[in-house]
Amino acid sequence: MTLETIFGPGTLLGDEPALMIAGERRVLTDVVSTPVINPATGGVIAEVPHASEETVDEAVTRAAVAQRAWARRTHQERAEILARARDLIELHSEEIARIVTLEQGKPLEHARGEMQAAQNFFDFAVSQKYRNIGEMVATESGEQLLVREEPIGVVAAILPWNFPAAIFCRKVAPALMAGNAIVVKPAELTPLSALALAQVLDAAGLPAGLLSVVCGPGRETGSRLIDHPSVGMVTMTGSTRGGREILARAADKIIPVSLELGGKAPFIVFADANLEQAAKDAVEARMWNAGQVCTCNEITYVDESIYDEFAALVARHVAAITPDDPLVDGSPMGPLVSERERDKVEAMVKEAVQQGATVRVGGGRPGGAQFEAGSWFQPTMLTGVTSDMTIASTEVFGPVLSLASFHDYDDLIAKANSTPFGLSAYVYSSNLHTVMRVIDDLEFGEIYVNKAGPERQQGFHTGWKASGLGGDDGAHGYERYLRRKTTYVGYGPAYGQ
Ligand code: NAD
Repeated sequence: MTLETIFGPGTLLGDEPALMIAGERRVLTDVVSTPVINPATGGVIAEVPHASEETVDEAVTRAAVAQRAWARRTHQERAEILARARDLIELHSEEIARIVTLEQGKPLEHARGEMQAAQNFFDFAVSQKYRNIGEMVATESGEQLLVREEPIGVVAAILPWNFPAAIFCRKVAPALMAGNAIVVKPAELTPLSALALAQVLDAAGLPAGLLSVVCGPGRETGSRLIDHPSVGMVTMTGSTRGGREILARAADKIIPVSLELGGKAPFIVFADANLEQAAKDAVEARMWNAGQVCTCNEITYVDESIYDEFAALVARHVAAITPDDPLVDGSPMGPLVSERERDKVEAMVKEAVQQGATVRVGGGRPGGAQFEAGSWFQPTMLTGVTSDMTIASTEVFGPVLSLASFHDYDDLIAKANSTPFGLSAYVYSSNLHTVMRVIDDLEFGEIYVNKAGPERQQGFHTGWKASGLGGDDGAHGYERYLRRKTTYVGYGPAYGQ
């Protein structure tokens, strides 16, 4: 089956899978490839070629040349092209949303939401066109001391599979606006949306070479990219294991790295919270994208005085989610991204039960012919989860809501902070003093109070501890794509002028 049969004539992906190297589609037929599988059916959508060492070298070399000219363009000129790209992404958002759904598995409606986020990242980047790009520091008479920002050069972006289109834009838009070129290595499972987006940026008039997409396994294609002498920075979203390996590689070259890794978000519900709202949000924050989000509610801690009441509310919401074909309107949840991820989640639930947890809702694969192929798992709720269980400390990345109780504030904070991760946390209480105390005490980079996510493009998505380094979004995320140059200008009599 050709891509045009799946995605329609004139698809951004062309008739057969190709890499995007410096604005050109590169069909490679004599190399190793990875199949892209529709997780809802188990069917193969495409075979995407791996970029060879020569192809990675070509992408980075072309990027380095294009970047020098791009950096000389004004901020307004760069913003004009990126604004056009944003509008074209909007124009093609239905097609790209469908690509996301077919390769990743999230319901089409949610993929449309992802495309909105993709546009928002471009909007934020474009908003930087009138930024202050440096400082003048008070110094001696007849001297000016300038500290100004400069792009880094060629950025390597290594992407995960959970939001393949949004995270592409989250990294590409600020990197380009700041005057860099970027070479993207999408996740093996979801390369098609990145390839489609590269076509859109090319059509928006992005100079050739500034953006390439090279596909293949992380340790192969990703490593080649990081090791290339002209790559000056790596930004990656994915697992802590992958992030650690990338950091070690980048250390050899001493280049900056921005990492957004796993999480183990505690979702804390105090007795004085609005319980209806907290229960609804606890489920949404867990089941979003079938639980495959680094900010997901990974363990719900509930004050023991309201535990039974809250468990009943949560159970009602979890039971109401019935997975369905992600292309069907109103489908609340699709499959997990791959059989490997589904098997991992299934094994974690089994282990939790062996260790004493109780399955209150779901707990396995859904029944019925529709779910026989593909990587489906039921929305699941576990009660009686305690801190000695593996599931209380390991990232689940699946639709499994774990309910634990607490009775003592200090014990709760110690448990919430005991994870090696430090990305997101949620707190529900109507008492301002309680909320502020929890914000002070939690060792997490992003805290949601009485509301679920997602994060916004003007915020700062930053993980503490094993959840990452640096971060994405907003003014602080944009800073990652810059370095500083300090210049001393002597112009007075003391300098012979
Ligand atoms: P992963 O870290 O292996 O992959 C993420 C990206 O990093 C992919 O593009 C991959 O090719 C690349 N990569 C991995 N190792 C690399 C290396 N040594 N050098 C260069 N590139 C490398 O993650 P995964 O296997 O796709 O998912 C496994 C787990 O990671 C999930 O179960 C989940 O816990 C976590 N995850 C987190 C996020 C997030 O948003 N933080 C996203 C996806 C996965």
